[in-house]
Amino acid sequence: MAMTFDSTNPARPAEIVASMPIHTATDVETAVRFATAAQRSWAKLPVPARGEVIATIGEVLTRRKAELANLVSREAGKILVEAGGDVQEAIDMAHFVAGQARNAWGTVHPCEMPEKFGFTTRHPVGVVGMITPWNFPVAIPSWKIFPALLAGNGVVIKPSEFAPMCCEQFVAACIEAGAPEGLINVVHGFGDVGAALTVHPGVRAISFTGSVATGRRVASAAMEVGPKLVSLELGGKNAMIVMDDADLDLVVDGVIFGAFGTSGQRCTSTSRLVAHRAIIDELIQRVTSRAAQLMVGDPLVATTDVGPVITSASVARIHDMVQTAVSEGNELLLGGSPIAATGCDGGSFYAPTILSGAHRNSFITRNEVFGPVLAVLEVDSFDEAIETANDCEYGLSSSIYTRDVNHAMRALHDLDTGIVYINAPTIGAEIHLPFGGNKFTGNGYREAGSRGLEQFSETKSVYIDYSGRLQKAQIDNRDSIA
Ligand code: NAD
Repeated sequence: MAMTFDSTNPARPAEIVASMPIHTATDVETAVRFATAAQRSWAKLPVPARGEVIATIGEVLTRRKAELANLVSREAGKILVEAGGDVQEAIDMAHFVAGQARNAWGTVHPCEMPEKFGFTTRHPVGVVGMITPWNFPVAIPSWKIFPALLAGNGVVIKPSEFAPMCCEQFVAACIEAGAPEGLINVVHGFGDVGAALTVHPGVRAISFTGSVATGRRVASAAMEVGPKLVSLELGGKNAMIVMDDADLDLVVDGVIFGAFGTSGQRCTSTSRLVAHRAIIDELIQRVTSRAAQLMVGDPLVATTDVGPVITSASVARIHDMVQTAVSEGNELLLGGSPIAATGCDGGSFYAPTILSGAHRNSFITRNEVFGPVLAVLEVDSFDEAIETANDCEYGLSSSIYTRDVNHAMRALHDLDTGIVYINAPTIGAEIHLPFGGNKFTGNGYREAGSRGLEQFSETKSVYIDYSGRLQKAQIDNRDSIA
């Protein structure tokens, strides 16, 4: 009899959402074997036929959206509108990726010699191992699984232990829509299951999303037994710059949404507010008074703005970080403590929190909190604002509020992040643009958009010589000796 673990509702931990098996290395072995066998015939299907299956998955997800959103809310603690957004991203991704099935699959190049022709084409890598976090428990698996399937791969996915049923149900929807038996496999459990998947010799590529600490472990383990293709989508410490000419009404809406949406638990959450000295006092006063009005509570209640954080351990970690910030001299303007919510016994809630007086080297400025905590930093000029925003190990998302087109253009060029917003907060990515970050946020890959297929396919360069004679390329041609 397999051992099990429970996923619980972060708003009401006494409610067990699902009881899941704790898989073993032997189960990982079986899953990889299934994926390997199914992948052989899947890869023989024409790419547009694979796309049709993915389009049908989009239809099944649309039909099951309300039910899945309810599950996301209960298992990951997202307020209902955000839980629906999580599922909607997967639906949009299905239709986007299905459309790519009829798009160009390579490039054509002129050759150095006459009667010779060069082009590239894509091929599957085989079986892809995927390891995912809990905070977008349907969207992130979809970002990985759909392009991997379109490229002709088999899949073994290890979702987070905090939201396993969301992934299980998402994969069930893929199978209901016609994904062949054995092509997509889910293994459950903790880090050791992810580690077994990472080093399995039958897994050619690992696609990981999660924290920097785990990403480092995954990448080094994969290289130890590899090399393998490893793509890493890691944490963020995202800054919003507010210049002295910004529209402050717009800024206040943006900060509240960016910092406290999803209880600050998006990799792109706004966690540093870099404000010009001329407007900082008014901005702090307005943001603090709006944040104080946020309704924190049961994510299934329609009037709730901010739901729980994922676990009581997260509450303790966030609180430790806030206390460290206060002990370093940052001023606590709002929140700064765990709170109770009506009808949510034992729920893991943390009050929306604002700290001012942070500087570039403050603990709270440099470390990802992954909770509803905003640190405010004061700057004197545009150049100082850009330097401050960039003075960070992470490089996922950034934003600037200004009405000066020159500052906006310089910022989009100079901000060292994979995503830049002008006059919008650091959250809100759309699935048809590449998603990912610089510096410690990743290792150069991008998910979604036109680049989403890259981590799941190998490029082959093909030369066809129809001259009927041996033609030597420039490097082998004696005539090229000077
Ligand atoms: P995490 O790193 O704790 O866990 C992620 C996954 O890794 C889980 O499935 C976990 O079981 C697994 N894991 C743990 N140890 C492992 C090991 N040794 N080998 C293999 N797998 C292992 O992250 P989390 O708390 O679930 O998610 C939050 C983090 O994810 C934040 O840092 C956030 O910024 C980041 N994130 C990044 C993106 C992005 O696209 N850049 C998106 C969402 C979340």
